[in-house]
Amino acid sequence: MSNALEPGWPRFSDYDLLRGPLGDTVVPASGATVCWYDPWQPPSGNRPGAALGELQRILRPALGPLLPESRSRLSGLPADRELTPYRRQQLLRWCKDNGLLGILLERLISARLAPARARTTGHVGFAQTTFRFASGSWRSEVFNSFRSRGLRHPEVVLDLYPMAATDAPERRPVTLDDPEVLAFFPAATATSPPTWTLPKPGGEEFWRVYGEPVAEIVTAVRRIDSALRDLATTQEDVADDPFVVLESAATGKPRQTQTDFARDVREQGRRSLNALTSRSSQVVVFRDGVPEVGQSYVSLWGALSLMAVPAVVKNRVRICGRERCRAPFVATAHGNLYCSQKCKSAAAQARLREARRAAGQGADAESGKGRQHG
Ligand SMILES: [Zn+2]
Repeated sequence: MSNALEPGWPRFSDYDLLRGPLGDTVVPASGATVCWYDPWQPPSGNRPGAALGELQRILRPALGPLLPESRSRLSGLPADRELTPYRRQQLLRWCKDNGLLGILLERLISARLAPARARTTGHVGFAQTTFRFASGSWRSEVFNSFRSRGLRHPEVVLDLYPMAATDAPERRPVTLDDPEVLAFFPAATATSPPTWTLPKPGGEEFWRVYGEPVAEIVTAVRRIDSALRDLATTQEDVADDPFVVLESAATGKPRQTQTDFARDVREQGRRSLNALTSRSSQVVVFRDGVPEVGQSYVSLWGALSLMAVPAVVKNRVRICGRERCRAPFVATAHGNLYCSQKCKSAAAQARLREARRAAGQGADAESGKGRQHG
C-alpha cells in the first residue's frame, strides 16, 4: 500500500516548542527545511504503524493516569504539563521523523476567507476563497463578485468529535481568530487579527505557520488509545469492574451482563476508530506504471488510525500485561504480551522479585528465622 497524497506528508528538519494560547506548542524551527514522505514507507525503516507505538510511549505519562478505566476518559486537564523536559525532547525528535499529526486538518470541514479586493476579468471586484477537502486533497474555490455585499462572512467550520466518539460529531462554525483555530498558529497570534490569513491547507506555506499544542497531541493520541483499548476489552477485563459487578448483582445474571458489557465497550471502540478513519479512503495509485492500492488521508492522525485497522482485524491489539502500565498497543508478533521492551523487563523483574519473596518466605517458615546469611 502506498500514499496517494502527493507529495506526501510533510516533516521539517527541526522542531521547537513555542508558548501558544493552549500552552506549549510544537512548531517547525525557523529556517528548517521541509521534506515530504509516505507514512506507509516510514523514513526510519520501521514497519507502518510503529510511529504510533513510539508516540504512545513518549506520551504515556500524560495518557496513562487519565486512562485508568475504559469509560472514565473525559478530562479537560492540561495534559502537556505532565510531560517532563526529557519527554518533550523525545516528542520533538518524533516530529522530526514523522511531522506533526495534522489535528486541525482532520477537524477542518471548510474555511472561508474574508473577501479581498481583486481584479477579475478586467474589472476590480471582490474574490472570496473557500478551502475544502475533496478527493484526497485540499481544493480552493474562488467566488468572484463586483460587490462585497452578498459575500458571506468568513468562517471556519470544524468537526468536533466528543471524546467518547459514539455520538455524531458537532459541526461548529467559528471565526479564523477563534482560539480553537488560533491555537494551531501560535505565530499568528502575535499579529492583529485583520492581517491574519489562512494559507491554503496542506501547502508548504500552511505547514510553515502551523503548530500543534502538546495538549492537543495528547488528546488526539488518547482518542486512538481509548478506541484500541475498548476494542481489546474482553469479558475477563470487565469481570472486576465495580459497575458490572453491581449490575450483575442487581440482575442476578453475572456472566450475561459481563458479556453484554464487553460487547458494548468493543462496539464503542469500533465506532471510535471508524470515526478516526472516516476521512481516509482507498484509492488507485500507480507505482512504476503498475496500479496499486493507495491511501488517501487528511492527516497523519487519521493515517495512524488507519494503520491500526489491520491489527484490530488480526486480533493484534492488546492491553499491556504489566500491571502498572495496562496500555493498549499493537502487537508486532503473535506472542507479544507487553507494550515495550521496558515493560517486558519490568514485568520479568517483578516476577523474579515475587518468586524470591515467595522462596524467602518459604525458607523463613521452614527454618523459623530470617535469612540473615543470604
Ligand atoms: Zn506497558
